[in-house]
Amino acid sequence: MIEELYKIFLESTGISTDTRTIEEGNLFFALSGENFDGNTYATKAIELGAKHGIVSDRTLDDSSFTVVDDVLKTLQDLARHHRQQLKFPIIGLTGSNGKTTTKELILSVLKQEFKVKGTEGNLNNHIGVPLTLLSFSNNLQAGVVEMGANHQKEISFLCDIAQPDYGLITNYGKAHLEGFGGIEGVKKGKSELYDYLRKESKTAIIGRWDPEQIGRSTGVNSILTPENTSLYKTEPFIQFTIDNQLIKSQLTGTYNYKNAIFAYTIGKELGVSLEKIVRGIESYQPSNNRSQVIKIDNTKIILDAYNANPSSMMVALDNLINQKADRRIAILGDMFELGKYSEVEHNKIAQYAADSTIDEVILIGSNFSKVSIENIHTFTDYHEFIQSAHLIETNQSTILIKGSRGMALERLIEDLFKKN
Ligand code: ATP
Ligand code: MG
Repeated sequence: MIEELYKIFLESTGISTDTRTIEEGNLFFALSGENFDGNTYATKAIELGAKHGIVSDRTLDDSSFTVVDDVLKTLQDLARHHRQQLKFPIIGLTGSNGKTTTKELILSVLKQEFKVKGTEGNLNNHIGVPLTLLSFSNNLQAGVVEMGANHQKEISFLCDIAQPDYGLITNYGKAHLEGFGGIEGVKKGKSELYDYLRKESKTAIIGRWDPEQIGRSTGVNSILTPENTSLYKTEPFIQFTIDNQLIKSQLTGTYNYKNAIFAYTIGKELGVSLEKIVRGIESYQPSNNRSQVIKIDNTKIILDAYNANPSSMMVALDNLINQKADRRIAILGDMFELGKYSEVEHNKIAQYAADSTIDEVILIGSNFSKVSIENIHTFTDYHEFIQSAHLIETNQSTILIKGSRGMALERLIEDLFKKN
């Protein structure tokens, strides 16, 4: 059946799972979620120009549709089949923090030399990875696939679809502690990537600085990141040398140093010239709420509102502390998906910020507002905070804005600065 579907896919103009963005000639997959049933949009999809629809509703049995038991599984099977036809190297990456940034850096490096494509935005799960692969065609020379996970066996499942030739784990951190069952669970779950690479005799790119990566990749064909690296300047943007080559990035935060070293290592492995690797890293400018530096009048904002977990909060606070500034302000929103670890982790972050040289610490959200530390301001939600936000002295300040996705703290840019 997959063979037949694959023929239809090859004649289509791509995949659609949403009639709001469908394009003429798309192959429509009627995916269903908790609150919607894709089957109810299938007829509309055809009306809007879809070439064909994959549905699970048997009453839709006409030649416009293929009826299957499980639409999602069919999408994944099709992606796996398509992947097997692709002739260029695929790089798969996972890790607790920095996947998207590292993916973008790798793409920026590789595109200096090759025709490449990667995960769009953050489409890194059991739906996003298949969609990413199905967006690749054989006119590419390399592909980069971000793989996210919040529980065991997920990376192993995604590897089975993406079948990476190269794999890397950015790091192991305190993210999705609830689903993984603590930090040991995170390490085990992410390392399923190494299990895949080992089994298939593919190659791991290993951060030389991380004994866990070295230990857990035993028996995998590995390339270590270069020995000869040094961080040369850290503020406002990081500058570093790799193999005696100075790289002046537009990235803030020393954590991005490691992300850049990974991109360098991949570039080198795939044969990109040193000059082009440097250009690729130097030209990358984050524009997606991830460690973005924004200057508004006399205020410098480090907008890191895309997401947050205890590990990335800690390094972001270190980066704020490291900034030259008259005043440092941290505006932090709740960290989600921590389960039983939530209270202690929120307290740790708050205490760390309170004990540091940060002048003003503002905590927002139902978890953070339970913290009780002298001189720290807490607010139960964004709305409550915004009522008194005008009291913040932003002039000559450097402000870190960071919280989990659901907190959407990027709203502050509008609400604090662009009102009057
Ligand atoms: P997600 O799980 O949401 O897909 P991600 O792993 O793709 O996240 P990014 O979106 O690249 O991660 O980065 C999110 C934030 O994580 C950054 O803005 C930064 O605060 C932090 N971060 C990035 N790289 C690292 C790193 N190497 N170590 C720790 N924290 C990092
Ligand atoms: Mg991501």
